[in-house]
Parts: sequence; C-alpha cells; structure tokens
Amino acid sequence: MAVKKESRYFDAKENMGLTKKQGYYNQSLAKMVRLGYQKSSRVKKIFDERNVKPTEIKFLKDLEKLPVISREELVKLEKEEYPFGGFCAKDMKTDRIFTSPGPVYEPHLTEKDPIWGRGYYAAGFRKEDVVLNAFSYHMVAAGLTFHSGLRRVGATVIPSGASSTENQVQLIRDLGATAYTGTPSFLMAIIKKAEEMGYDFKNNFKIRRASFVAEPLQPSLREKFEKEYGIDTYQMYGATEVGDIAYECSQKNGWHICEEVIAEIVDPTTGKQVGPGELGEVVVTRLNHIFFLFRFGTGDLSRYIKERCPCGRTSYRLAGISGRVGEATKVRGMFIAPSQLKLVSSRFGELKLQVLVDRVDFKDYLTIRIEAGVEDQARLEREFENVFKEICTVKMDKLEFIQKGTLSDKDSLIVDRRTWK
Ligand SMILES: [Zn+2]
Repeated sequence: MAVKKESRYFDAKENMGLTKKQGYYNQSLAKMVRLGYQKSSRVKKIFDERNVKPTEIKFLKDLEKLPVISREELVKLEKEEYPFGGFCAKDMKTDRIFTSPGPVYEPHLTEKDPIWGRGYYAAGFRKEDVVLNAFSYHMVAAGLTFHSGLRRVGATVIPSGASSTENQVQLIRDLGATAYTGTPSFLMAIIKKAEEMGYDFKNNFKIRRASFVAEPLQPSLREKFEKEYGIDTYQMYGATEVGDIAYECSQKNGWHICEEVIAEIVDPTTGKQVGPGELGEVVVTRLNHIFFLFRFGTGDLSRYIKERCPCGRTSYRLAGISGRVGEATKVRGMFIAPSQLKLVSSRFGELKLQVLVDRVDFKDYLTIRIEAGVEDQARLEREFENVFKEICTVKMDKLEFIQKGTLSDKDSLIVDRRTWK
C-alpha cells in the first residue's frame, strides 16, 4: 500500500503563488466588506459617515479609508451597543461567546476557521502528539481556541489550563505528554517544579516540542529550552480580538502571516500604511463572516519581511514585535523602539548605548552615545553605523563615545530632547 507523503504545509494556501494569493485576498476582503455592510449596523455607520461605498474597498491599500479601531475604542463601542458593538449580524449564530478584560465580548468563529492550526502545523505538531495546553479555558478565548488549533492538526489535547505546576508535572509524567503550549515562563516554572520533585526533565519525560504565545520568548530562555532540555521551540502571535495573526516556521526567522488575516503595518498617528521595511503598528482584519471588525489596532510594533522564506511559504513575515506603540519614538518619520536598540546592543556584545534625539535647523538629529574603551573605537566607528541603519532603518547623525560605566540600567535607551515651539 502506498504511503501518503505528509504535506509540508497546513494547506495549499501557504505556498500559493503571489499573484494568485493577491487575488484570494482581494476577493475575501471584498466579500467581507459586502457582507459586513449588509449585516453589521456598525460597519454601515462607519462607511456611511465617511462616505465610503463598499465597492470602493477592493485592495489592501483601500483599507486606509477606514479608521483603525484600538482595543480601548472597541470597549467603548461595545458599551454603546451590547454585546458586540454592532459588529455582528443581529441574527448571528455562534456556539460560544468569549470575554476578555475591558470587557470585550467576542463571538467564537466557525469550526471551519483554522485558527492556530497553521502555527501548530509549522511547529511540527501532529496527530501522534499528546499536548499539554496550559492556557486557561475559563471565559477567555485562549484555552479553547488553542485547543481547536491542536485538534486541527490531529493532536490529542490535555486541557490542563491554569492547574498548579505540580499538577502539570504529574500530567506530563502519567500521560506521556510529548508537547507543550502555553507561555515560556510557565514551562520553565513546570521544569523547575519537576526538578524540585526529583525528576530529570529531559530524560524522564517526553516533552520535545513547545509552541509559545502571549509572552515574548527571550533568546536566552529559548537556548536553555533547546540545548539543556531538548525542546524544539516555536512562537505564535495573535490577539484575542482577532485570533491568530502569525507564526514561526522551522527557519525561526520571522513570523508568517496567516492566510485568514490581513496584517497592515501602519503609522499609528495617521493610520496610513508605511513604506517597505519600516516599523509601524500591526493592524489586523480577520477575514470572516461573523465578526466584522475591520482594522483592529493591536498596539504592537513590527515590520514586514517580504523576502521569500526558504520554507516555501509565500506569505510575508512579521519581524517579531519591537514593542508597544507608546514606547517608540518617531525620528524623521520612522519609529525607533527600545527593543531595536537592545538588538543593536546585542550585536556588539551587549554594548551600553543611548540614543539622543534633538531638533537642529528644523530637522531631527540623531546622536548615539556608546560606552567603549579606546581599543574598540576604531572597529565600532566602522561597523556600528551600518548595523544601526540595518536594524533601526534610520540613519544616525553622530556617534559619540563615552566612558565605560557612564550609563546605568536606569537610564532611558531613548532620550527625546526635541521641543516643538
Ligand atoms: Zn518560513
């Protein structure tokens, strides 16, 4: 009997040619706009107030005609019109309704939606796996939607939720769990508890794979999981209001944007899409026919990676999350976030640095102060500017060397000295 070769992808959408994919996106968007305008009182109101006709939203760029809706705004709109702010059809049928702080009420999407399935598939989760799902199942979307994703790839789920670490260790041991999904810090707490209980986590247990979400994965922690505990780790990214947005593949270099969402990168002050490679807010529209929330502003900063990934998926990738909108500073129209500066610093062996932003002759002027001994200065003068430009996408004006020990951890990474009088 011929053995069916396992697909490298969750479905054929993932490696669809770019032109075809563009067509798929445009069609799905037009359909959601048409339905939304017809069924959702809120969407109709938003369009009519702006004098936008549903037929005018055909391409990704057209979304700029609509407002970005932040979480705070969504809370406000839902309060005006319970339970879903008018974003759903009056006769909408859904099997359950989730809540999240605010409160925000979210209808569950249909079972057909592959929510989180792509991320788990790319992380190698399969039907042979027994997965500990350490996300809460109580009221919030997390537990049950991750559960759905795991079921979509055929895995067996242990709905361990928010049980104690001791309980989780017991489940891993007794049920022979092979994989974990939850936050990275909670997995580390479980490992520590197991060690406290006298187990050798790597050799006594079978956990070989983990998919993390809802918390950043520090590179040092990732290395620890992979090298010390033999756990292959992956990251996924999403928001409770829109579900999964992006996920890592085996290349572990950027997050592939899911085919169910349109993820724009926009200037948070104007809502306009930024240029290629620029940092901006991740704004998401989930293509569906239940909850017509267009342009949800996540408040997270990222940028696109448009180069084709060696894994063969054709989607653009997000280059991780560079921080929250409020933390970043705009210099010559580009955002600089503390996390980008930390990345620059790590390229030079945790170099201590600080960015000063001034206004000289009506232009932004960028000075980077770095702590360096005389022996390193020549090398840094050669290499620093390029690395800074590569990561921050802004050109610096001046490099200033300062004595070692000048900067403390309490000093801000970015000091904005501009006055606008
Ligand atoms: Zn890839």
